[in-house]
Amino acid sequence: MAMVDAAERLNNVLALIAKAEEEAGRERGSVHLIAVSKTFAAEAIEPVLQAGHRLFGENRVQEATAKWPGLLDHYPDASVHLIGPLQTNKAKDAVALFDAVHSLDRERLAAALAKEIDKQGRRPELFVEVNTGEEEQKTGVSPKETAAFVGKCRSEFGLEISGLMCIPPFEEPPGPHFALLAKIAADCGVSNLSMGMSADFQTAIAFGATHVRIGTAIFGPRG
Ligand SMILES: *Cc1c(COP(=O)(O)O)cnc(C)c1O
Repeated sequence: MAMVDAAERLNNVLALIAKAEEEAGRERGSVHLIAVSKTFAAEAIEPVLQAGHRLFGENRVQEATAKWPGLLDHYPDASVHLIGPLQTNKAKDAVALFDAVHSLDRERLAAALAKEIDKQGRRPELFVEVNTGEEEQKTGVSPKETAAFVGKCRSEFGLEISGLMCIPPFEEPPGPHFALLAKIAADCGVSNLSMGMSADFQTAIAFGATHVRIGTAIFGPRG
């Protein structure tokens, strides 16, 4: 029963994304759906894989390393993105498993990722996380420092930066934060925007999101 539900909710979300793309005058399929499977066991993820979905998001390296190798044995074309904070000492495991990291936000991490990318010959797509709300307790580069940080990632660490990511402050309307992220991305010359979650992905798509990260609307509430 629960299995049917996740696949149904997936199709529902895909239809809403298609509608938002159309309403925003965006090309059909221009928005990638990252199904955020954090906290859910492999058995809960499998029905979504069976339904044909291949792009997933996890927020913890250790949890993903325990869960995904087994799933990838059966679905080798699936990809997993790290959307949560990354400790420097986990850069090695992160580069080994993930196809993208959405939380690059400091030089020490850029250095650690560059070293592992060289060593392992794997190139996860990299997103710089921007703290658009300038919230003290939150990770991410401040908006005014983002262009310099992206430049440094490129010139000093030889990293290719694919896009920017943000998590707007919980209590604020997200639109202005999405608009700000899009503007900074244009200034930095990066084309991908990882923004929008279950509650606000349609708004994010209207502001140009290329990657939406959706958990609850697919897998249901987390325990
Ligand atoms: C958990 C999480 C999501 C998904 O949130 P939902 O509200 O369940 O869609 C998206 N982005 C990040 C960074 C997350 O940690």
